[in-house]
Order: sequence, then C-alpha cells, then structure tokens
Amino acid sequence: MSSARRADRRRGRRAARVAVGALVAAAAAVVVLPAVPAQAAPAKVVYLTFDDGPSPRYTPQVLALLSQYGVRATFFEIGQNVAAYPGVTRQVGAQGHSVQNHSWSHPDLRKVSKSAFQYQVTATDARIRAQTGTTPTCLRPPYGGVNGAVRSGAAGLGKSIQLWSVDPQDWARPGRAAIERRVLDAVKPGSVILLHDGGGDRGQTVAALPGILRTLKSRGYTFALLPCR
Ligand SMILES: [Zn+2]
Repeated sequence: MSSARRADRRRGRRAARVAVGALVAAAAAVVVLPAVPAQAAPAKVVYLTFDDGPSPRYTPQVLALLSQYGVRATFFEIGQNVAAYPGVTRQVGAQGHSVQNHSWSHPDLRKVSKSAFQYQVTATDARIRAQTGTTPTCLRPPYGGVNGAVRSGAAGLGKSIQLWSVDPQDWARPGRAAIERRVLDAVKPGSVILLHDGGGDRGQTVAALPGILRTLKSRGYTFALLPCR
C-alpha cells in the first residue's frame, strides 16, 4: 500500500470517528429535550412525593395539609414502618394518595444480595397491599441508589424505578424557609419533588408545606400522582 493510500485510510477512520462523536452528541442532546413539542407549552404539573413513612406523628399532619389544599401525592413507604403503623398507610391510601415501595428497611439496594433485594421489595409490597388493596408498581431505591442489578431486579419484579428532580434536602433540617425556597426556586413543569414524612423529625417539612402548596397553586401548577398503579 502506498503511503498516500495509507494516509487516505487514516483520514477515513478519523472522519468516521468524528461522525460517531457527532452522533453521540446528537443522542445526548435528544435526551435533554423536553418530552413535549417545543411549540406546545408544557403542562404545569408537579409530582409531590414523600419518602420514609409512614410516621404516626408526621404523616397525619402531611395528610391534613394535602387535604386542606386539595392536593394528591405519592408516598414511598418503608415496609417495616408500614408493619408498625398499618393504620397510617391505610389512611394515606383512603385519602386518594398513591402508596409505593421504598424497600423494607432502607438499605442501599446496590449492596444487597439478589435474594435480599427480592425480600426488600416483595415483603413491602405485601404490607402495602394489605392496607391499600393495591400492589405498588413503582420502586424508589433508598438514596436513589441505582445500578444495573437494581434496574434488572426491579424490572424482574414488574417495578418501574421512580427517582426525583427537585431535592430540597429537607431530611437534613435546613429550616422551614430553606426547604420552601429550595423547592420554589428549582421547580418547573414536570418536576418530581422529594420530601420526607418519616425517618426523623419532619416538623420543618410539615411547616414548609403550606407555603410550597400555596405558591405553586398561585403559579398555576396542578398536582398529579406519579404514573404508578
Ligand atoms: Zn428514603
């Protein structure tokens, strides 16, 4: 092969690499595009979610506020808390909210065996089903810990993984005003807002809720349940 032809082939390979790079960039760009056509205004919907309950103390306070504002939310509950406070879970379901699966004892599901993973999910399903009559179809892995094993384990149990897009870190108790401001600064149509009704003192979360609900309503938002059964 002449050196000129070798140079040609090198250029060809380089061009192919550039083309693949452009394709990868284009694919990445597609991912960040909104799911609705650019000309249509996205629906002003937000998804409120509460993790780590039920709590006999804070969940009823959250429920009272949601009811006062006519808002529905999705609760990702911990199985062992459902076992301890089944009546609270029943109340959440009876008020039209969605009760979904947040594992049995809140481990990082990336670090448990396959059989432990199955137990974490199915034991929680059973406790929730006993109170609401409905088997959760959504799983929120604790800490948002997702990898290939968690993804395939969830899929094998018929679960869709649901994370969040707005996290005010209310669990760290930064103060009512900070929780409220962090949510209201970050929220946009389609946001999934992460709050906590269990797992510790959630007084600040409860205190932040009226301002969050009032302001989002005044901005024209409606509140929907996540697409779980
Ligand atoms: Zn959690």
